[in-house]
Amino acid sequence: MISFNNTYTTLPEEFYKRQSPADFSQPKLIALNEELAQELGIHGFSQEELTQFFSGQKLFKGSDPIAMAYAGMQFGHPVPQLGDGRALLLGEVNGFDIQLKGSGQTPFSRRGDGRSALGPVLREYIVSEAMHTLGVPTTRALAAIGTGETVLRQFGPEPGGVFTRVASSHIRVGTFQYFAFKKDHENLKVLLDYTLKRHYPNLLSLKDQPERCLALLREFTRRQSDLVAKWSGLGFIHGVMNTDNFALDAITIDYGPCAFMDKFSFHKKFSSIDEQGRYSFWNQVPIAKWNILRLADCLLPLIDSDIDVAINKVEKELEKLFPLFEKKREEIFAQKMALKDQDNSSLVEEFLSLLEKEKLDFTKAFRELPRLYSDESTFFPESKELHDFKENWLQNIDESELEQLYGINPLYTPRNHIIEKVIDLGHEGDFSLFHQVNKVLKNPFEEQSESFGLDEEPAAGEVVKNTYCGT
Ligand code: AMP
Ligand code: MG
Repeated sequence: MISFNNTYTTLPEEFYKRQSPADFSQPKLIALNEELAQELGIHGFSQEELTQFFSGQKLFKGSDPIAMAYAGMQFGHPVPQLGDGRALLLGEVNGFDIQLKGSGQTPFSRRGDGRSALGPVLREYIVSEAMHTLGVPTTRALAAIGTGETVLRQFGPEPGGVFTRVASSHIRVGTFQYFAFKKDHENLKVLLDYTLKRHYPNLLSLKDQPERCLALLREFTRRQSDLVAKWSGLGFIHGVMNTDNFALDAITIDYGPCAFMDKFSFHKKFSSIDEQGRYSFWNQVPIAKWNILRLADCLLPLIDSDIDVAINKVEKELEKLFPLFEKKREEIFAQKMALKDQDNSSLVEEFLSLLEKEKLDFTKAFRELPRLYSDESTFFPESKELHDFKENWLQNIDESELEQLYGINPLYTPRNHIIEKVIDLGHEGDFSLFHQVNKVLKNPFEEQSESFGLDEEPAAGEVVKNTYCGT
């Protein structure tokens, strides 16, 4: 029998509020991630029990649900109190947080209803699992529930849902900011220790606190640079990289207005609220650095009582490490193009510029490269730029790596227009496409007899121009 742990509730009371999930009279289990449930040791329950657990109607043994407190910088502006307004941490299993999203109001709900619409539940389920399969550190999807109730959203009433998310933790840069904004240095230290124990245990051997903080910034930068490089290599746009959506374990978290790009553009953005393109594709690197600096701000008082000395120390560390972001992104693209040289940014940019100019599909273009090499591709329109690129590329290619490209550049990604179809059908109570899409995305590199359009660009009328936080 599975039993939940609750290490977060051992922290001081300022870290969270206890809260029970809302009542739902007719919850239905739409999906259970059997593999993940097995891995976590959640098995031996009936369908009825699982429906009760994942809609919050019944609690797992040992579960002590809480809403976590955090702050954040949203589009660059400080918000001293956010917190789980529609999410509840049920507890931990094997060190993983199990969280319900859409399970009702909490003390952090502000004006929100604490609920979730079904659409974002289906979207997060598909995209987070696809990211995991594609090798990107991410929260996982454990279950999707239809509540049978209606929630009111931007475009009218929508069916409600509850999503169960699994994460190595839900500690965010915004969690540090919550205490830093209040100048609560005691709790900042508690949070620092908790974070190191959970995610950076090797740093606990450093006994000096300033050294620990600087080491955390270094290690965090390394992990985030890996993460953002992986996003870049897949044409993934997170869409809302506010500091409250930036996890200390450097996993992808909070799938709201995210998207996999179809036609490539360096500054592509989808989110309807991102008017300036702050979180556009190519900006994800500078924004990640900016978010790391916001974590550094929080740690300054723990580094030195003289703020100038502290800033100086941080700057020295990060100056050395920040170029990792560009380096790792180049390495990913070098792999995707079978380049001999790991840092050949001009050739990568030449290719991406060609895609942008010709309005070509990102995922398909990379998948076509072996055929471009063997002159079998009809995907790229003939042009002088193509000719020049190809000549340059052929001189820089490692031919032995070409075959590997089929295992590096996916054929199937969770394209937005397909997710929209899944949601439209889901609204009618038909989840067949949802399950089919999840199945195809389990093998994103291998050609499958039925692919439900996941390898095709949207037709003119299907293009999704805007995405919404939408919860
Ligand atoms: P997000 O932009 O989805 O990362 O959420 C930002 C903040 O808004 C977080 O504090 C959420 O808990 C809160 N929030 C989002 N949707 C709701 C909702 N329906 N009810 C209450 N709070 C919400
Ligand atoms: Mg969030």
